[in-house]
Amino acid sequence: MLKIGCHLSCSKGYLAMGREAVKIGANTFQFFTRNPRGGRAKELDLADIGEYLAFAKEHEIGQILAHAPYTLNACAKDDSLRHFAYETMCDDLSRLAHVPGCMYNFHPGSHVKQGAMTGISYIADMLNRIGEQGFSTTILLETMAGKGSEVGRNFEELRAIIDKVEDTGRLGVCLDTCHVFDGGYDIAGDLEGVLNEFDAVIGLERLKAVHVNDSKNPLGSRKDRHEKIGEGQIGLDAFAKIVTHPSLRRLPFYLETPNDLPGYQKEIELLRAMVSQQTR
Ligand code: FE
Ligand code: FE
Ligand code: ZN
Repeated sequence: MLKIGCHLSCSKGYLAMGREAVKIGANTFQFFTRNPRGGRAKELDLADIGEYLAFAKEHEIGQILAHAPYTLNACAKDDSLRHFAYETMCDDLSRLAHVPGCMYNFHPGSHVKQGAMTGISYIADMLNRIGEQGFSTTILLETMAGKGSEVGRNFEELRAIIDKVEDTGRLGVCLDTCHVFDGGYDIAGDLEGVLNEFDAVIGLERLKAVHVNDSKNPLGSRKDRHEKIGEGQIGLDAFAKIVTHPSLRRLPFYLETPNDLPGYQKEIELLRAMVSQQTR
């Protein structure tokens, strides 16, 4: 069965997110660990997590995804900002230790004129320091669109980070369909070629999750503006191939399209229908 869900608000806790997911036909979901623009996390509520875990088991919700605030910059020029990114991630990961099966996704960062190589070193440094803390959660680097000075705009940059990390046992990649398309990878016209390239550069065994978003902008635009599934430049046919591809179909898919809950419900139904059509 296709594992699919969408981004949900974390403000009411885990059980509330689980219930919301089930209501819209999802069997997984993504959420921000705190306000996406940073700030303090909610008090850790172990009773809520316990109730959520029982609910998740009952409703077969698998492998959810926590998303770090996107304002964190592990490769900022200012070392207090880099330290803040490290501290925030450590705090997130110590909380997530209570939520087995939850992965943690983050945007590698923006090198802001320091150059990609410097950015890559800082990001790997942070991951190595996090690694020393012995957290149990799998951490995912997200593929980026390449706007501004984003690191992770191509597979090679993610590979370079991974190569500098000492213990990569719990390190993976989350492929964002809008980002890679905006980054110049033609998943609409040549999905097979893009996945072959991913495999050659990073290795498909590192791919742990997919963000399913259409893009408002054309291939290679480096914009990062998400669009509803089938209403953007990637298009419905491409998504049918993506959710049924043998290398992808077992992964969890997370929608981050501009939608409310009924809109997400429709997209989940649409993508599920693509899978059942193919297997019929
Ligand atoms: Fe993201
Ligand atoms: Fe994303
Ligand atoms: Zn995005």
